[in-house]
Amino acid sequence: MNTVYIGLGSNLDKPAQQLQDAVSSLKKLPKSNFQQVSSLFASKPMGPQDQPDYMNAVACIKTELSPIELLDQLQKIELSFGRIRKDERWGARVLDLDILLIDDLVIESERLTVPHYGMKVREFVIYPLAQITQDLMLPDGSNVTQLQKTINDNGLIIVGELR
Ligand code: ATP
Ligand code: MG
Ligand code: MG
Repeated sequence: MNTVYIGLGSNLDKPAQQLQDAVSSLKKLPKSNFQQVSSLFASKPMGPQDQPDYMNAVACIKTELSPIELLDQLQKIELSFGRIRKDERWGARVLDLDILLIDDLVIESERLTVPHYGMKVREFVIYPLAQITQDLMLPDGSNVTQLQKTINDNGLIIVGELR
């Protein structure tokens, strides 16, 4: 069993409901056990600013799926939520599910980079991750609680709970 942290994001079509539904989908992943999820956070968009604010959360699962099998499952969920892949990077979306960490694995393949390349500098990842962990260590030795202290919260706020 690998312990996996997944970043959830949405800024279209009732984002809070999208994230709650996404958590329900994560609870049904094959060969996996759902562990916990952070509070629901509201954040400012990254990149293009002419789009609605985001809702974000981080969930933890334990899984026997291989990393690529897990990516396939998560992309299947994104598509089932009606996500349309556009050329524009960081544009509005109904659901984004990013694999943040898989134990202390380091993966650099064409489809999958783990740890997620942006996680250390994104407040909407580090704050929820720090909320559900205690001094979690990344493969490069950095500490999530310490990272949180160095990253500006950029107006991030807790707006609710997921279950
Ligand atoms: P960002 O990756 O900067 O957060 P994004 O989440 O909007 O942007 P996507 O369109 O969701 O990007 O994903 C683009 C590609 O990233 C996917 O097709 C997937 O193969 C690849 N990818 C690489 N590493 C990961 C990862 N750790 N988790 C999810 N997707 C990944
Ligand atoms: Mg993303
Ligand atoms: Mg993504």
